[in-house]
Amino acid sequence: MRPVSYSRVPDVATAIGAVSADPDSTFLAGGTTQVDLLRIYVEQPGRLVDINDLPLRQVESVDGGGLRIGAVARMSDVAQAQVVRQGFPVISQALLLGASPQLRNMASIGGNLMQRVRCGYFRDLAAGCNKRAPGSGCAALHGINRGHAILGTSERCIATHPSDLAVALVALDAVVHTQNGSGGRAIPIDDFFLLPDDTPEREHPLDHGELIVSVEVPATKSAARSLYLKVRDRESYEFALVSVAVAIDLHGGAISEIRLALGGVATKPWRARQAERMLIGAPPTTENFTAAAREELLPAVPYGMNEFKIELARRCIVRALQAVTADNWQTATATGGTA
Ligand code: SF4
Repeated sequence: MRPVSYSRVPDVATAIGAVSADPDSTFLAGGTTQVDLLRIYVEQPGRLVDINDLPLRQVESVDGGGLRIGAVARMSDVAQAQVVRQGFPVISQALLLGASPQLRNMASIGGNLMQRVRCGYFRDLAAGCNKRAPGSGCAALHGINRGHAILGTSERCIATHPSDLAVALVALDAVVHTQNGSGGRAIPIDDFFLLPDDTPEREHPLDHGELIVSVEVPATKSAARSLYLKVRDRESYEFALVSVAVAIDLHGGAISEIRLALGGVATKPWRARQAERMLIGAPPTTENFTAAAREELLPAVPYGMNEFKIELARRCIVRALQAVTADNWQTATATGGTA
């Protein structure tokens, strides 16, 4: 590891000032991904500015039923907060199905959104990887790509976005609040994650020195009736092959509001808008769920080893919708398994 300087800052202004003043510096929160990447030379900042002392750990209700989460709140604290478990169960479930208990105790909400891809070639300095080294190619296109994306891909990168939390937040139309030296801005979360297109090295719209300070989730009719389904190769400490975040409101025997997002299948947390359009106003039947799932996956492009994800994603959408519309939906488990 090359030498890295380290400082711990007490407030947001100092943190932003320290990183903004030094192009070779970066923020350090929980460190659960970043320190790994430092050790294998994928990331090589000269200076780490530790933001763990910033007063950004709140998990609280706002604006008539919305939710605000501070950027350095721990995954485990957010997952267990009563306001989240009762009002936004999909967020709590997505957090608890991510990482391991030890990692959840350390990892921050802002860091979770900023985590890098889990593509093996991204972490292998001997492999071509446009995301790590722009212009060097993409070894995954014709390599081991069983876990890679089928939606939102480009010929430059097909890595899936790894966060479970982000899938739940995209379904709920969360907003990411940031600050830099000249003020703050609010970024709708669907705009916060960029498709790879020709610039896979650019994953977020953040400028250098711009700090995530909080994430806000608006109040909606559907958030309280929501769940997260995750299918993976093993039952813990594993990334999704396919995941589904769904929130729904039923009225008069029909779907009056629906929010649906997919994880594990796309280069960004994937809002399933086509399926939503087909289901709004429709009766909650398996036939309608199946038709919507089929339509949503029509644009999918497989890359060899990951073709199975198309059918798996269809089945996961149907299963998640069946679970969230069932009379006993609150006891429905969302722990994945065979779809
Ligand atoms: Fe790199 Fe993306 Fe290709 Fe993986 S899929 S090797 S992260 S460019």
